[in-house]
Amino acid sequence: MEFDFIVVGAGSAGCALANRLSENPSNKVALFEAGGKDSSPWIHIPVGYFKTMGNPKTDWCYKTQPDPGLNGRSISWPRGKVLGGSSSINGLLYVRGQPQDFDHWRQLGNIGWSWSDVLPFFKRSENWENGPGENRGDDGPLAVSKNRLTRDVVDAWFTSAEAAGFKKNPDYNGIDQEGVGYFQLTAKDGKRCSSAVAYLKPARSRTNLKIFTNAPVERLLFKGKKVTGIQARVDGQLQDITARKETILSAGAIGSPQLLLISGIGAPDKLKPHGIEVHHALKGVGENLQDHLQARPVYKCNVSTVNTEVRNPLKQAMMAVQYALSRTGPMTMAASLGAGFLKTRKELETPDIQFHIQPFSADNPADGPHRFSAFTTSVLQLRPESCGHLELNSASMADHPAIHPNYLATKTDCDTLVEGIRIARRIAAQEPLASLITAEHTPGENVANDNYDAVLNWARDNSTTIYHPTGTCKMGTDSAAVVDHRLRVHGLENLRVADASIMPTITSGNTNAPAIMIGEKASDMILEDAM
Ligand SMILES: Cc1cc2nc3c(=O)[nH]c(=O)nc-3n(C[C@H](O)[C@H](O)[C@H](O)COP(=O)(O)OP(=O)(O)OC[C@H]3O[C@@H](n4cnc5c(N)ncnc54)[C@H](O)[C@@H]3O)c2cc1C
Repeated sequence: MEFDFIVVGAGSAGCALANRLSENPSNKVALFEAGGKDSSPWIHIPVGYFKTMGNPKTDWCYKTQPDPGLNGRSISWPRGKVLGGSSSINGLLYVRGQPQDFDHWRQLGNIGWSWSDVLPFFKRSENWENGPGENRGDDGPLAVSKNRLTRDVVDAWFTSAEAAGFKKNPDYNGIDQEGVGYFQLTAKDGKRCSSAVAYLKPARSRTNLKIFTNAPVERLLFKGKKVTGIQARVDGQLQDITARKETILSAGAIGSPQLLLISGIGAPDKLKPHGIEVHHALKGVGENLQDHLQARPVYKCNVSTVNTEVRNPLKQAMMAVQYALSRTGPMTMAASLGAGFLKTRKELETPDIQFHIQPFSADNPADGPHRFSAFTTSVLQLRPESCGHLELNSASMADHPAIHPNYLATKTDCDTLVEGIRIARRIAAQEPLASLITAEHTPGENVANDNYDAVLNWARDNSTTIYHPTGTCKMGTDSAAVVDHRLRVHGLENLRVADASIMPTITSGNTNAPAIMIGEKASDMILEDAM
């Protein structure tokens, strides 16, 4: 089997790439996905993330190593394993990040990645239901819609945030992210718009695009320093497949570095213990792992929330009927309704924390919501300094790598999260929210706000990922960089990485929209270089 381009991984970035590369019928493109087709209805119903997350049919179900920053806890790290990748199981929240994030990437030496460089790709990808604007696109494949579901408790949180001195912002995806308002969603007519729905569905009938599912790529093939293709399992058989022009890894922040390491590209001292021959020494592979850690203050309240609604069989049946008839109601709910991008200190230039306001609460989403009425005010630090890494457990792609997130390892990170929790409490103390709250469920009254160590310790004991691992094949010019500004792997030919792993620093928000932008931009660079 021979193709011009091989894309490994049909996730947020990979689907965008496969579509754009195959727009020209003379390019023969192959897309390899380890997971299966996106045929489960739960992938397409927004609240289906409760069914797809933690389900090995759609999720890699990674677990981190015990993390010192979490008082030794090991936590779940879901990642999509299906067409659409993580965009098929994610919370549907559409957030680009701050313009300054990308200007910072440019400042680090990455030519072509400033905000003004990447904005055209965000706009090109997007089909924003509010219509076009200076910063918004309305004729791209990715449907972005306004939130349709409101809840009194979320509106009350916005008003209380204003009472606490924060502003409202009707479009955090505009030039100014700061403020509170409803999230925008990757959804259309009440259904999820994954990267597979947006980019693969319209391209599936192209004869020059071949999509392989249940086809894990096991290693790269080389001729000297040139990558010539991949070895993948197709219909259960290992096969060598040739890329005449390029191979592009879009296997995500875990899959892409794992595949490089298994193929002998990485720090020699990380490869040799697993009997892997060093093909190309590149010490940054698997390093620079960054993620957003969320602390989840939960408030019991005296109004109905989704917790109580879903425990009532009659209401549950009505929700299903409402969704079946009109694609509206609680089944269209994204993982969060309310967004807040706020500053912990007035002198900061841009927000450093993000709130996710959810009209429900749970100890673990897989166990279902609490039995009492409550809402969650999840808070995270937008640009953590702490970096982790991943390393192989074995030379087999079938073994998950060892993931070391290294959360809360710097004083700035600890201070910011503690201040975020204090701000959550300050907002909860304002009207109209204060009158709706009957008790603080977590952290709870035993964790005194002025006791820094107690608040931090509660965060270490209870915080979880909000599912944004990035940076493990970072773009840059320094010795720890894995790819250059055109996403070519340093020191090798015909190999690029294009997914969330190339981010030199994590973006200030949820990472799906930036990953899709990376796929869009990579396609232009690949086609330009192939001319
Ligand atoms: C549960 C969850 C909720 C999230 N919620 C949000 C949200 O609401 N908003 C938001 O913006 N972001 C959210 N994110 C994060 C966002 O979805 C990801 O950052 C983004 O999808 C990453 O895109 P990617 O292209 O880098 O990787 P992915 O989309 O993860 O794609 C990688 C693909 O490569 C495949 N793959 C891996 N290894 C191999 C191999 N060896 N061979 C073949 N295929 C392989 C995988 O199966 C996968 O399909 C969430 C993520 C998760 C998991």
